[in-house]
Amino acid sequence: MNSYDSNKIADLLSHHFNMTPIDEPQKADLLILNTCSIREKAQEKVFSELGRWRKIKNIRPKTLIAVGGCVASQEGKNIRSRAPEVDIVFGPQTLHRLPKMIEDVLEKEHKPIDVSFPLIEKFDYLPQSHSSSVSAYVSIMEGCSKYCTFCVVPYTRGEEVSRTLDEIIFEISNLVKNGVKEIILLGQNVNAYKGIRLKDNKSINFSELIRYVSNIKGVQRIRHTTSHPIDFTDDLIEEYRNNKLCSNLHLPVQSGSDFILSRMKRKHTTLEYKKMIRKVRLVRPDISITSDFIVGYPGETKQYFEETINLIDEVGFDDGYSFIYSKRPGTPAAYEGDDVPLSIKKERLSVVQDIIRKNSRKYLEKLINTKQEVLVEGESKKKSGELFGRTFTNKIVHFKAPKSLVGKTIELDIVSANRSSLIGRI
Ligand code: SAH
Repeated sequence: MNSYDSNKIADLLSHHFNMTPIDEPQKADLLILNTCSIREKAQEKVFSELGRWRKIKNIRPKTLIAVGGCVASQEGKNIRSRAPEVDIVFGPQTLHRLPKMIEDVLEKEHKPIDVSFPLIEKFDYLPQSHSSSVSAYVSIMEGCSKYCTFCVVPYTRGEEVSRTLDEIIFEISNLVKNGVKEIILLGQNVNAYKGIRLKDNKSINFSELIRYVSNIKGVQRIRHTTSHPIDFTDDLIEEYRNNKLCSNLHLPVQSGSDFILSRMKRKHTTLEYKKMIRKVRLVRPDISITSDFIVGYPGETKQYFEETINLIDEVGFDDGYSFIYSKRPGTPAAYEGDDVPLSIKKERLSVVQDIIRKNSRKYLEKLINTKQEVLVEGESKKKSGELFGRTFTNKIVHFKAPKSLVGKTIELDIVSANRSSLIGRI
């Protein structure tokens, strides 16, 4: 979501001021930090980067510094108390107001702070995306109304708000005209999508949205991220019969302990979670299932942690992200004792990561000596002369081929597997 927002910021600045992004901060007229506050570590990095930028501003005092994203939203005025060199503070829902804020600084020497949530206004002010990549993100909803006890998102991005069906279809139709082949529907909880169709105000849910998107000529593949299990309904599972919807599902579970899940207010049990996975595998037996895990949540005993390990084994997730619990200001969990010692949290994290690494290897090795349909996305960043693309199950494949194949779907023989990607041959 943050990289999507950063692209939108770049589009806006190019549209309003003809600005172009550059790589050297010491030569920039405007420095923007688009921040994340999901865990404390991400937040701390903001202030160390601002410290480096202060030195740039000392040498070139006309350089403007803007801080956006969720740390800005959470800290508001405090950003400027800790970092007085910051000229503009904007939030994830006010990034479209950045051009006006820049003008304010330049013309009125007023230093604006705006981290409000003006509902969905943002999307009306963003210029059309000109992406001509093979795969493009399209934001369909923003924010979260789930209020899981550990999570800061509802407070920094606001509650769930969906774009209208018409806006989304319009944006995707334009992307496809520019040559985009794969659409990744993006949101904090995509499957909570509840938009309206403008002509009759009919409410459209996520599975219906996928159906509409798949009917757009030129859309070849559809992915989505991220989902919450309680909105993973049967109609969405049925939608996996749609052959444009890719075979990968990222469904964060956080913990394998019913006690911890209820403390986190996730509103489902492990049994219910396993049932969803079983049902989706009935429709798509080879689907890639990945998840997020938090270790060391307040009250997580050895036994509760082992239940997480058991769930990972039982479900056989083929990849995932795992995190040490990080206390976030203003969340309900922050008022509970953060009682698992850091050394144990680290140990648990490495146990989870080892198992996931092994599962991932197993899943990739099973693909060796098979043929896979791969959508070619571009040139490999690691090896020159090589291209990369993704299987229908979202696994990256590197292979030697002429550049003219970028944007095409081709069949590859998978010859070997690395830690997290595959090597293929035409
Ligand atoms: N909407 C998704 C979450 C996306 S946030 C859901 O509700 O499942 C991405 C991931 O960051 C989460 O799945 C969670 O594993 C992790 N995360 C969020 N808050 C955290 C915290 N306070 N400490 C550690 N990890 C956290």
